Amino acid sequence: MSQPSKIWLSSPHMGGHEQDFINEAFEANWIAPLGPNVNGFENDLKTYLKTDKQVATLSSGTATIHLALVQLGVSHGDEVICQSFTFCGSINPIVYQGARPILVDSEPNSWNICPKALEEAIKDRIQKRKKPKAIIAVHLYGMPYQVEQVNAIAKQYDIPIIEDAAEALGSTYNNQNCGTFGDFAALSFNGNKIITTSGGGALVCKNQSSKEKTVFYATQARDNAEHYQHTEIGYNYRMSNIVAGIGRGQMQVLDEHIALRREMHQFYKNIFENINSIEVFEKEDNKVFSNYWLSAITINEKANFTREDLRLFLLEDNIESRPLWKPMHLQPVFKDCPYYGTNVAEKLFDRGLCLPSGSNLTDKEKYRIETKLTAFLKYYGHI
Ligand SMILES: *Cc1c(COP(=O)(O)O)cnc(C)c1O
Repeated sequence: MSQPSKIWLSSPHMGGHEQDFINEAFEANWIAPLGPNVNGFENDLKTYLKTDKQVATLSSGTATIHLALVQLGVSHGDEVICQSFTFCGSINPIVYQGARPILVDSEPNSWNICPKALEEAIKDRIQKRKKPKAIIAVHLYGMPYQVEQVNAIAKQYDIPIIEDAAEALGSTYNNQNCGTFGDFAALSFNGNKIITTSGGGALVCKNQSSKEKTVFYATQARDNAEHYQHTEIGYNYRMSNIVAGIGRGQMQVLDEHIALRREMHQFYKNIFENINSIEVFEKEDNKVFSNYWLSAITINEKANFTREDLRLFLLEDNIESRPLWKPMHLQPVFKDCPYYGTNVAEKLFDRGLCLPSGSNLTDKEKYRIETKLTAFLKYYGHI
């Protein structure tokens, strides 16, 4: 028998009008890292976020975090705090700047940076005569971090926050959009994100002059002169007008994608409703609204199966699932970075799994997923 078609964890989902914006760019010959789609996409994002801040679109989410660090003056020998439980794109730019990541554990509620461990880290670094230059706080899987507590600590110690909202476009905290809480905020439009431009990102900046500075660094830091004149090091990080056209089309379907991702979350909640060994990750009080970018589950410590048992079982039917992010303090490349906290993130990594969550999953695919999950639960005697 031939293999059933692959069900992806999260795959691109076009709305239908992306190509129109690309065609406009071709017709006007705006095939460059500037043009009407770039401006249009930036305006769309600013409007969506309901903010007075300014948005600069760049070539990737990682590039946005890099340029935030550059503008915060992070350089050789500095230290920057980041939550350990994240994707490497949050942290690598610290090292690009020759600075050192200081890694902090998560709290079990939102899975994001633990306020207690954060304060412990800040105090200890200050005592060691190195005040951290910035804090990178992440809204993982679309779930807002504890904004009030974390931002209050940042304010108390006068340390800027870079908000990593790469996974959280459309999520809100106290009815305010994720991506508007930090001194800078990063968005990503990589292929697996809630909307995609095939690859890209946006930096939310405090004001117009900060946006202009971002664009300056993103276009090789060219001084104001007839010839090419440079007094600073720049980067080639601006978003292309073609790619921004995809973004404009995707903005038309963003809210629909969020509703569909949230339906996937409910789909898994129904399947695992009476299963004690599996918990679907959620936290929605009246403060928090998650886009549920990825539906994640954790497996009880006392369960008679592991997350690998489940992952491999799904794979038999060509259904992709993925362990939660491996914490950065467990990564070989960051093994020498100081770490503050206990084992919250480690336990999540051991016991957690992301399930197919795309907004484009068909009823047939959902039926396949449900059938396979039910077979698994039967096999291990849970139903
Ligand atoms: C995707 C992602 C990034 C980086 O975005 P790219 O566009 O892939 O460079 C950063 N942080 C988190 C948490 C992400 O999920």
